[in-house]
Amino acid sequence: MGRIVVLGSLNVDLVAQVSHLPAPGETVLADSLQTFPGGKGANQAAGAARLGGSVAMIGRVGNDAFGSMLLESLTRDGADITGVARDPQAPTGTALILVDPQGENVIAVSPGANANLGADEIRRALDAVDADGLLVLQLEIPPQVVREVIGSARRKGIRTLLNAAPAGRVKISDLVGLDVLVTNEPETSALVGWPVDDTPAAERAAVELHREGVHLAVVTLGAAGSVFCLDGSAEHVEPFRVTAVDSTAAGDAFVGALAVALSDGIEVSKALRLANAAGAGAASKAGAQSSLPHRGDLERLFGVRWP
Ligand code: ADP
Repeated sequence: MGRIVVLGSLNVDLVAQVSHLPAPGETVLADSLQTFPGGKGANQAAGAARLGGSVAMIGRVGNDAFGSMLLESLTRDGADITGVARDPQAPTGTALILVDPQGENVIAVSPGANANLGADEIRRALDAVDADGLLVLQLEIPPQVVREVIGSARRKGIRTLLNAAPAGRVKISDLVGLDVLVTNEPETSALVGWPVDDTPAAERAAVELHREGVHLAVVTLGAAGSVFCLDGSAEHVEPFRVTAVDSTAAGDAFVGALAVALSDGIEVSKALRLANAAGAGAASKAGAQSSLPHRGDLERLFGVRWP
């Protein structure tokens, strides 16, 4: 099995439950405040490690208590955190999240140390990937770092998977030579420039992204599963039926599982079936990292055994 190296964001999520979302200038007293590990990079690293992947996280946190908490949490999940630097100046990335009783939220993200990723992290990431390894990226770090890594990895023959989230931070032309691209519907729309809001549109988009130079283009469709294009025509991968409780981190669970399956050498349509199971597992449970499934959860929930 190849090593999975995740170059990406680590955030702490501060979640306050409020009776209603405040209007500008208004103060509301929160009913509770909870602190959770988050950030797409750390979520995907945790998701992959829980599914048995050999995972190294590369990134930056502040030299503060939140940074320590994130590193301890990833270590508990089994990821190697020796490639995460402590930024001497910037604080740990933080998401401030207010949630009302209907589940509606407002969120402000302060990238903190994640915004300072640069040449050092690129070098550490490229050095950490072995011959069968996979470099996993998202867009919560500076997009120029992601573009540079994709270019260098291509020149060195290193396999890369980009989850192009959040939307709108790269163009299709940045993705030429990428091995695996994973996007949800709005992220896909932002790349192709036309609406992608159902399975047929996602199939057309996957074909277009493949033609533009992505080896394996994957579009996730929430409760409708996912589609992919590997050889010029698109295929739909059936979803697992669950009672959806909270789809937060479903995409991160999907990416983590896909990374493990591909680095295990599992064939693409089977790998996507496993990724769908992990996404559905996360959607069936509340929370972000706390909802990321282990292999045993996939077997218990869906009878799916990791090959
Ligand atoms: P994101 O969280 O990035 O928007 P999606 O909502 O598309 O991503 O979810 C990622 C994957 O998780 C989907 O492709 C699907 O396989 C699975 N998934 C998400 N929500 C559900 C659901 N309600 N029922 C079954 N599977 C789901």
